[in-house]
Amino acid sequence: MFSINSFFKKNVDGAMILLLFFVVSLAILFYYLQNVNTNIKNNDQYMNGVVKLQNYNQAIDNTLMRSYRYLDNDQIAETTKQFDIELLALQENEIHVAFSSEVAALLKQISTLYEIKTDVIERFKTLNARIISAVYYLYELEISLRQKDIENGQVQKLLGDILYKIGQVFMGRDLDELHLEQDLVSLNLHRSGDEVLDYFYGHSKQVLKDIRALNSLLKQNKTLALDDTIDSLSVLLEYESRRNKQAEGMIGQAFFIFALIILIVLVYTYLKVLRNRAEVFYLAYHDTLTKLPNRAEFERYINERVNEKHKGKKNFIVLFIDLDRFKIINDTLGHDIGDEMLVVLADRISNILGKGNLLARIGGDEFVSIIENKKDIDSIDILVNKIASIIREPIQIREYSLNTSASIGIAKYPDDGQTKSMLLKHADSAMYHAKDNGGDTYAFYTEQLSIKIHRRLELEQELVHALKKQEFILHYQPQYHLSTAKITGAEALIRWNSPVLGNVSPVEFIPVAEDTGLIVELGYFVFRSACQEYMKWKDQGLELNLIAINISSVQLRQADAFENFKSIIDETGIEAKNIEIELTERYIMEYATGKLTILDDLRSLGCRISIDDFGTGYSSMSYLKSLSIDTIKIDKSFISEITTNEHDAQVAKTIIVLSQSLGYEVIAEGVETLEQENVLRSYNCDMAQGYYFAKPMDSESFIHIYHEKQIL
Ligand code: C2E
Ligand code: CA
Ligand code: CA
Repeated sequence: MFSINSFFKKNVDGAMILLLFFVVSLAILFYYLQNVNTNIKNNDQYMNGVVKLQNYNQAIDNTLMRSYRYLDNDQIAETTKQFDIELLALQENEIHVAFSSEVAALLKQISTLYEIKTDVIERFKTLNARIISAVYYLYELEISLRQKDIENGQVQKLLGDILYKIGQVFMGRDLDELHLEQDLVSLNLHRSGDEVLDYFYGHSKQVLKDIRALNSLLKQNKTLALDDTIDSLSVLLEYESRRNKQAEGMIGQAFFIFALIILIVLVYTYLKVLRNRAEVFYLAYHDTLTKLPNRAEFERYINERVNEKHKGKKNFIVLFIDLDRFKIINDTLGHDIGDEMLVVLADRISNILGKGNLLARIGGDEFVSIIENKKDIDSIDILVNKIASIIREPIQIREYSLNTSASIGIAKYPDDGQTKSMLLKHADSAMYHAKDNGGDTYAFYTEQLSIKIHRRLELEQELVHALKKQEFILHYQPQYHLSTAKITGAEALIRWNSPVLGNVSPVEFIPVAEDTGLIVELGYFVFRSACQEYMKWKDQGLELNLIAINISSVQLRQADAFENFKSIIDETGIEAKNIEIELTERYIMEYATGKLTILDDLRSLGCRISIDDFGTGYSSMSYLKSLSIDTIKIDKSFISEITTNEHDAQVAKTIIVLSQSLGYEVIAEGVETLEQENVLRSYNCDMAQGYYFAKPMDSESFIHIYHEKQIL
C-alpha cells in the first residue's frame, strides 16, 4: 500500500545519502586537490633544486676540464660551496621520501659522485701547493749545492728534468711514461744525510705519490660528470607528477556530479601543473637572460650528435664565441648594461645563424654554436665573418653607444675531436689563439695549436721563478754614427737562458710576461741593470751618449711607474739625459689619445723617448709633428729590403727626411749588409744598429768592441 510516510522517509533517506555522498566526495576532492597542490609545490621545489645542482655541476666540470690551463681554486671553492648548500637543502627537506625511494636513491648517488669530485679537487689543490714548494726546494737545493762547490752538471740537469716532468703531468702526460721515480733514485739523494737534500727527496716522493693517486682517481672515474644522475632525477620527478595527473582523471570520473565545477577546477590545476612543469623544464635547459639554450642543453645536444647512433654520420662545426674586453664593460658600466648588451648580441647572432644551427650561451660572455647546415659548413669562413661583423656593430643601450668584438674558435667534427669535451676544448683553444692575436678575429683549431698552448704553459710555468733564479741577463747592441762609425750608444736587450727550456727569445716570452703581469718586475730589473751597467762603463772611461732601454707599455700604465723609474735613476746615479726609453709606435699612438702623463714627466726629467719599430704601426706621418719625442727608429723590415724594394726605400727616405725636418734623430735598425749601410748613409740617416756592425753581446764584449772601434 502506498504510504506517504514511507515514501517520504525513503526519499529523504535517499536525499540524505545523496547529500552525505556529496559532502564526503567534496571532502575527498578537497583533500585530493590539497594533496595535488602540495605535490606540485614539492615537485617544483625539487625541480628547481635539481636545476641549480645541474648548473653548479656544470661549473665544476668546466673548471676541471680547464685544468689543463689552470685550476681556479677560488672559483671552484665558491661553486662547490653552493653545490653543497643546495644538495644539503634537498636532502634535509626529505621531500624525496614522499616521492619515491628511487628519488632518494638518486640523490644519494649524486652526493657520492660529488664527494669523488671534491676529493679530486682537493687533491689538485694539494698537488698544486706541493709542486710550487718543490720548485722552491729545488731552488734551495741548487744554492746549497753551489755553496758546497759541488759543480755537478749531471745532478743539476737531472733536477731540472725532474721538475720539468712533474710539470708535464699537468699537461696530461702519463706518469709511467716519464720514468720520474727512476730519475729521482738515480739522483742518489736518499743517502745524502744532508737536510735539504733529504727534504727535497722526501718531498718529491710525496709529489709522485700524489700524482699517482690523482691519476688513478681520474682514470677510475672516466667521466666525473653527474649529468646523467641529475638527468635521471629530473625524469623521475616527471614520472611522479604524471602519477598525480592520472589520479586526477579517476577522481574526475567518480565525482561526475560535480563534473562542471570539478572540471573547471581540475583544468585550471592541470594547466597550472603543465605551465609550472614547462617553466621548470625550460629553465633547466635555457639561459634566463638571453633565452638561448644553456650549457646543459648544448651538452645534451652535442652528446646526441656524437653518440654511437649518429657517430660520424653527420659533420658539424663547433664555434666558440667569446667577447673581447667584456669584463671592462661590466666593471665600468655595471652588470645591467652588460646584461642588456648580451641580450642584443644573442639576438643578432641568432639572426645570422638562422634555423638549423644551434646557438647556446654557456658562460658569462661565452657563446657556442653548432653549425649543421650543409651550406654554412661549406662556407664557414663567410658565416664566421658575418658573425664577427654583426658583433662589431655599435650597440645603443640607454645613453651609451657601445662597441665590442669577439674572438671565435672553430673546431670541426669529427676531424678535430670525437667527443663533446674534446670538441669544446679544441674550439676553446682556437678561441684563445684568436684572442692572442689581438682579438676581433677567428681561428681554426689545428694540432699545432695544442702544441702552442703546451709551449705557452711551459713558458708561464718557468717564467714565474726565472727572475728570482737569476736566469735573465742583458746583452747590449752598439748604436753607431753613420758618418763617423763611432759607437755612441747601446740598446739593452734581455736574454733568458732557462735551465729547462734553454735560450728563449724575448719575442716569445715578453708577451707572456706582459699577460701575466711579470713584465712589471722584469722591466724594473732591466731598467736598473742597464743603468748600473752604463755607470760601470762610464767609470771605465767609455763615453756613450746613451743607453737605450725597451719599456713595455704595460709597465707604464702602473700608477707608481714614474716614482719607481725616478728612484732607480737616483739610486744608480745615472743622468736622465743618458737614458733613451724605447717604446713601440702603437703605444705612442695610444698615449697621444689618452690621458697619461708619464712620458711627459720622464721627458721633463731629462730622459729621451724613442719610437721603436717605426713604420709598422698605425701612425700616419702627419702625426709625427705632434709627438713629444726625440728619436725615430726605422723598423728593420724596411731596412732589409732597402736595396731591393723601391717602395721600402722610398718609405725609409721619407721617414728620415721628415723626421729630421721636425728635429728628431733617426736611427735605422737591423742593418745587415754594407749595401744597406751605404744607402742609409746616402739618405743622410744619423745612426744605425745591426748585425753588420755588431750583434747584441754581453757587457765584457761590448767594452772590448767599443775600444776597438774607437781606435779605427
Ligand atoms: P726590438 O726592440 O725591435 O729589438 C731589436 C731586435 O732586433 C733584437 O732582437 C735584436 O737582437 C734584433 N736585431 C738587431 N740587429 C739585427 C739585425 O741586423 N738583423 C736582425 N734580423 N735582427 C737584428 P731581440 O733581442 O730578440 O729582441 C726582440 C724584441 O724583444 C725587441 O725588439 C723588443 O721588442 C723585445 N725586448 C728585448 N729586450 C727587451 C726588454 O728588456 N724589455 C722589453 N720590454 N722588451 C724587450
Ligand atoms: Ca728596441
Ligand atoms: Ca725595433
